Amino acid sequence: MSGPRPHWLFGDQLGPHFLEPSGSGPDPDAPVVIVEARSVFRRRRFHRAKAHLVLSAMRHRAAELGDRARYVRAETYREGLRRAVGERAVTVRHPTSRAALGLVTALPQVEVLPPGGFLVPFGDFRRWADGLGGRRLVMEDFYRRVRRAERLLLDPAGEPVGGRWNFDADNREPPPRGEPVLPVPPPRWPEEDEIDERVRADLDRWERSGEVRFVGRDGPRRFAVTRAEALRALEHFATARLPHFGRWEDAVLAADPWMAHSLLSVPLNLGLLDPGECVRRAEDAYRSGGAPLNSVEGFVRQVAGWREYVWQLYWYLGEEHRHRNALGHRAPLPDWFAELDADAVRARCLSGVLAQVRDTGWTHHVPRLMVLGNWALQHGYDPAAVTDWFHRSFVDGYDWVMVPNVVGMSQYADGGTITTKPYTCGGAYLNRMGDLCRPCPHRPGDRTGERACPFTAGYWAFVHRHRALLAANHRTARAAAGLDRLDDLPEVLAAEAVRGSAAP
Ligand SMILES: Cc1cc2nc3c(=O)[nH]c(=O)nc-3n(C[C@H](O)[C@H](O)[C@H](O)COP(=O)(O)OP(=O)(O)OC[C@H]3O[C@@H](n4cnc5c(N)ncnc54)[C@H](O)[C@@H]3O)c2cc1C
Ligand code: SF4
Repeated sequence: MSGPRPHWLFGDQLGPHFLEPSGSGPDPDAPVVIVEARSVFRRRRFHRAKAHLVLSAMRHRAAELGDRARYVRAETYREGLRRAVGERAVTVRHPTSRAALGLVTALPQVEVLPPGGFLVPFGDFRRWADGLGGRRLVMEDFYRRVRRAERLLLDPAGEPVGGRWNFDADNREPPPRGEPVLPVPPPRWPEEDEIDERVRADLDRWERSGEVRFVGRDGPRRFAVTRAEALRALEHFATARLPHFGRWEDAVLAADPWMAHSLLSVPLNLGLLDPGECVRRAEDAYRSGGAPLNSVEGFVRQVAGWREYVWQLYWYLGEEHRHRNALGHRAPLPDWFAELDADAVRARCLSGVLAQVRDTGWTHHVPRLMVLGNWALQHGYDPAAVTDWFHRSFVDGYDWVMVPNVVGMSQYADGGTITTKPYTCGGAYLNRMGDLCRPCPHRPGDRTGERACPFTAGYWAFVHRHRALLAANHRTARAAAGLDRLDDLPEVLAAEAVRGSAAP
């Protein structure tokens, strides 16, 4: 058979930039193979909204590509590829998970091209990280390198605009008092079409037949699945919501799940948007006076800093990172947590956040880290199980982004490779950052008694359990020393032991 080699697209490589026939890209006009592998959904219990998004995005892409696409529904990727091209040579871009990379490199007919969808080449990161000679990897240092390399938010002399690299200190305001939602234009939602309808019908059928099981609800589709929808989402964010992004970045409001966040993680992780175009659009907003620097720098830091850093760490730290368990946490996830059973929970913060995950498969970063991750850490859930749960339950969850964020950032299971201390807090912090504690049957400041806040009690129980480790770390030594001031510690520990794995 003659003609260009077919190019195989995974479901998170759906933007036009993945098909660009540049020096390292696929052959010009290559036929495009997309495989919908049912075994992926059979193996693990994903959020149903996530299954919907991925299938809808792949089927939309195939429809856009028309005759150029060969869309195959198969049991496995291998079978799908065989049915699409037989033994013919194909190209594929470097996949985003180690498992998928293992698969494509094991197939002799497949040539693996460099990855798309990220700013920094692997070699650049490796040279930087290896060159540190054992010193800590620090996100801030990496981020500044990316800013310089990409010429992002720099003045003509190559220095950061506004005289500072970091505007985090301006981005920690609590939300306006008494306001249930931020004074910010709401997100604009995409409209579902007949492809979504068919996806829903397929998912219903698979579930009915008992073939596949999901968690969560497949409500109205909230996130972009086509390039056009993704560009509209980026444009709406850049013009209407980015100006407010920075100020309340660390805040949380019970009735405002979206706050001023971009909601771009899904289209970014499906490959529909390129990170470069997102940060340049944000920079344009700043330069044209459409958004203040603290917001724009905050957003650029998330995308060109954190997202790139996490991607690189996934590959740099190797498979071993996934299995780290520095705190020796082994507790299984209780059913109410695993099943997103928000109604079983009385603690308002946790119940509200679990309900958001159940209903949308998404929450912003504060509930992920300070409510869900915090709870799992305080209760010693097995970090590998927590990583798997986040991966399956979140619509933007992929292996590369979950392992560093959960094992490293949220569960401190790598003992400090990614963050310098465990991220945990009691009710007082959650209460300061928003309105979660009003009304709640618990009181954020109470450690003991009928209305003891489970996060506050859980915090002290955690500090007590890991006292030696926390005392040896200068960032947590004060917390460890704080145990000596608690005359009710035995009572706190006894109540926590009684709670066990029950829903708070
Ligand atoms: C425990 C935990 C789990 C997480 N799991 C995921 C995940 O599965 N997928 C995911 O994309 N992000 C994840 N994040 C990072 C972050 O919470 C989400 O990217 C963000 O909440 C998505 O909403 P948004 O698009 O409105 O983000 P915004 O707040 O608007 O931020 C802009 C973009 O920055 C990027 N970003 C910011 N922080 C990170 C980060 N730590 N890692 C990677 N990208 C980042 C995302 O692409 C995001 O879209 C996780 C964070 C934590 C603490
Ligand atoms: S009082 Fe405690 S349990 Fe209740 S919402 Fe506040 S932090 Fe959560």
